Amino acid sequence: MKIVGVETFLVPPRWLFCRVETDEGVVGWGEPVVEGRAEAVRAAVHILAEYLVGQDPLRIEDHWQVMANGGFYRGGPVLSSALAGLDQALWDIAGKTYGAPVHALLGGPVRDRVRVYAWVGGDDPAELADSITERIEAGFTAVKMNAVGRMAPLATVADVTAVVDRLALAREVLGPTRDVAVDFHGRASAADARRILPLLAPYQPMFAEEPILPDRPHMLRDVVTASSVPVALGERLYSRWDFRPALEAGVAVVQPDLSHAGGISETRRIAALAEVWDAELAPHCPLGPIALAASLQVAFATPNFLIQEHSIGIHYNEGADLLDYVIDPEVFRFVDGHAARRDAPGLGVEIDEAAVRRADQVGHAWRNPIWRHDDGGLAEW
Ligand SMILES: [Mg+2]
Repeated sequence: MKIVGVETFLVPPRWLFCRVETDEGVVGWGEPVVEGRAEAVRAAVHILAEYLVGQDPLRIEDHWQVMANGGFYRGGPVLSSALAGLDQALWDIAGKTYGAPVHALLGGPVRDRVRVYAWVGGDDPAELADSITERIEAGFTAVKMNAVGRMAPLATVADVTAVVDRLALAREVLGPTRDVAVDFHGRASAADARRILPLLAPYQPMFAEEPILPDRPHMLRDVVTASSVPVALGERLYSRWDFRPALEAGVAVVQPDLSHAGGISETRRIAALAEVWDAELAPHCPLGPIALAASLQVAFATPNFLIQEHSIGIHYNEGADLLDYVIDPEVFRFVDGHAARRDAPGLGVEIDEAAVRRADQVGHAWRNPIWRHDDGGLAEW
């Protein structure tokens, strides 16, 4: 079997899909994307495709090595995400060729269902409470919310109090048997993270995500040891080498994105590395159906898996949603806050190719907002 073509599709709301075709008619799908830089990843995919076309798709590890390390320059969001999507597509082809789900090729399932969390929004307290109640009624046992909005370099007492009050309210609505995670989005300074996390500890969030920016692992240990709140991080890290300093600093949860961190192959290795530090895997995934399907395959086969993110109904999905691109949305129907294991071959999701081709005609040019402080200086979004 040989790869005969690689196509890419820029689809709303902000995604990029790839389709890898073989001479035996087996087709694999992947999702190589960096949100806000999709066109750059698309160009990188087509550079890697120059090598892939003509190759045997089943030599996944060898292709991974060539795509990751064969170009001299390596790593970073664009190259690692192009690699990630193509890696997903190769695993999809392997599964379809062998008639097995990817989790079977990874050693077989270690669980029967995968816990997922839902995003909740709402800036005013009544909105937040309603939003959480809605998720509970839909069966979810865990939610995640932004911890903070735009943050001044050193937050005021009012800002800090607002952060604590939001979490306190969420805990009150959820009760002691459900979980809430808070995402700082790298908006706080290390000094503020060390002030705020101990104040959140009494409400026992499941984890605090990106309390500081991921490019300062030298500050991370101080943040981790400032409180008992488990620290999570990793949506902006791209390889096992990137994760090592964060693990050494004591993060409790690693959050590689299957579409950024070298795909299924590298995420598996990151999870194994995390086991050495007693850290759990909670893949980042505010993306489309292929990234989510790939995440679930890894979740079913990974012992130290904690919980999965998904983008169904997320605030980013304006104009299109994950289910618009799948033939059978049942694959992503969550029962009691969990995704059930399925045994369809490959990634286990059938992509609606006609819908994808139509959406690519529309395309998108999604960019994240640029935030500024009151004095006009750039603020972290
Ligand atoms: Mg995040």
